[in-house]
Amino acid sequence: MAFESLTEKLQNVFKNLRSKGRLTEADVKTALKEVKMALLEADVSFKVVKQFIKSVQEQAVGQDVMNGLNPGQMVIKIVNDELVKLMGSETTEIALRLASEVTIIMMAGLQGAGKTTTTAKIAGKLKAKGRKPLLAACDVYRPAAIKQLQVNGEKQGVEVFAMGDKNRPVDIAKAALVHAKTNGFNVLILDTAGRLHIDEEMMQELQDIKAAVPVDQTLLVVDAMTGQDAVNVAEMFSNKVGIDGVVLTKLDGDTRGGAALSIRAVSGKPILYVGMGEKLSDLEQFYPDRMASRILGMGDVMSLIEKAQANIDEEKAKAMEQKMKKAQFDFNDYLDSMEQMRNMGGISSILNMLPGVGAKMKGQDLESMVDEKDMARKEAIVLSMTPKERENPDLINPSRKQRIAKGAGVDIAEVNRFIKQFEQSRKMMKQMTGMVGKGGKRGGFK
Ligand code: GDP
Repeated sequence: MAFESLTEKLQNVFKNLRSKGRLTEADVKTALKEVKMALLEADVSFKVVKQFIKSVQEQAVGQDVMNGLNPGQMVIKIVNDELVKLMGSETTEIALRLASEVTIIMMAGLQGAGKTTTTAKIAGKLKAKGRKPLLAACDVYRPAAIKQLQVNGEKQGVEVFAMGDKNRPVDIAKAALVHAKTNGFNVLILDTAGRLHIDEEMMQELQDIKAAVPVDQTLLVVDAMTGQDAVNVAEMFSNKVGIDGVVLTKLDGDTRGGAALSIRAVSGKPILYVGMGEKLSDLEQFYPDRMASRILGMGDVMSLIEKAQANIDEEKAKAMEQKMKKAQFDFNDYLDSMEQMRNMGGISSILNMLPGVGAKMKGQDLESMVDEKDMARKEAIVLSMTPKERENPDLINPSRKQRIAKGAGVDIAEVNRFIKQFEQSRKMMKQMTGMVGKGGKRGGFK
């Protein structure tokens, strides 16, 4: 399996880190040295490794440890985040034109990289999305290429446009576009010729095709098994022909994984898909975060990240729960919870932190009360209250409401609505926490 050796090495490094409660700077240095070796042995580009380690080191030294993580876990989290960044952070999709127009995709790559297979795989994906793709056989040099595309096209139920091997690829591309336009196709995928090595002729041919038809996306197919070579190929094609994205094939094989990690950094282009086998269904969207978890070999990386993101002060959460039980939750707590929420990204996370309350409260009024859309306005309303008013909402009479509305720049009706909603939620919280208590006794839970 790909990355096996890298994963094993990284896991060893992390096991050592985890076993230490406190980390000295020397511990971190030693660990990073080992990470560096592991990455180099996985055939990650030297320049990329150097930059990677530097970045991790800076953060590991400069950053405070987040709540809920020990220093060792913190380093793992930083490594994970940097891996994700290295691979492009976001998932990139093929950019398609409107369905009423023809999107032209040109496939490029060296012979044997998996270009023809990938062309058919992508056609299948686009077809499943409701597009009508046409494949054009522009590889007129490799004897079996046209036949291979036709066989694969047929398997996918996708038409293949071919003119034999006596025409120039540029002319085939032009004729294919006319065919696509007159027959209602809205994606044209050009399977171009590869060579065993990069040569001028191949580059020129791709440039000529680009000049002859308005190519929207040039996708480079590279073989992950070739490691550093794949990265060099990506860099060359990027410089000479211009590419928009990369498909990394044969990731199901025994690759060391370096290509997946270096391509984005070296070529500046994202990996769109990864080939995971010879079957035409074996093409997967590339997710940098999932790939990082896979490389780190830790299903629990995700939970580790979540734990760090749930950067909530548990003491505060407990205090808040008490207040909720007694219906003492006031506008100061509301502001507090707003801030917590900003750290964590959602009301449901807070509710889930409150034992026994979360599941029952989901989707209730409290959630709509802090709906992100008008969260800022509500916060402005609370901020326009005096500290006394926040502590004791009963103080808020009509003239105070007038002042608050003015301060927050909202209508007085909105202030009324918000305060009423707040009171209702308070009541509900009391009921809810009451229910939890009773249920607990009956069910014999803690
Ligand atoms: P081309 O010369 O670039 O057009 O390459 P082909 O499409 O002919 O593929 C070369 C070989 O690689 C074929 O045997 C394919 O079945 C195989 N291949 C392509 N993609 C993958 C992949 O993702 N995984 C595996 N294991 N084999 C692949």
